[in-house]
Amino acid sequence: MKKVIYPGTFDPVTNGHIDIVKRAIELFDEVVVTVAKNPTKTCLFTVEERVEMLSECFREFSNVTVDWFDGLVVEHAKQLGAIGIIRGLRAVSDFEYEFQMALMNRNLADDITTILLMPHAKYTYLNSTIIRNLAQFKGDVSEFVPQVVEQRLKEKFSY
Ligand code: ADP
Repeated sequence: MKKVIYPGTFDPVTNGHIDIVKRAIELFDEVVVTVAKNPTKTCLFTVEERVEMLSECFREFSNVTVDWFDGLVVEHAKQLGAIGIIRGLRAVSDFEYEFQMALMNRNLADDITTILLMPHAKYTYLNSTIIRNLAQFKGDVSEFVPQVVEQRLKEKFSY
């Protein structure tokens, strides 16, 4: 039973994140998508709202669960009995940060492996910040996020 975790801010979850989860479940038995509760980061959505949106997106996937964590990601992985950490790699610009994190996490826990997955090319320019900015100015986000997220963004920005 090979379980992995996919940690991130998911503020909010985009089709790029979903693409990564779908690739991960082809390789592993269970994926836990886990929202990082980071007190130093100001987010548009609360942790609870982000967990709710993710849960809705993966409602029909029996091998995907959603939770949240604070503290070290490797500690959370160990607590859940996960063997690895999934992260997404969109472009060379992501690489340095992801590489640093992977090596730091390996330093902290040698038995937890980081797996970097690349999304479909059409998602390589997509990130949550762009979506928040687009929605703030009432732009059409429907192509880039699941319906539940589009709805929540419309409620947040009243359009
Ligand atoms: P974090 O603050 O931890 O980077 P994010 O929610 O921005 O949280 O991203 C979580 C993970 O998903 C990261 O590994 C990031 O590179 C990846 N990711 C974000 N957007 C995409 C996308 N469009 N396609 C593939 N991976 C993505």
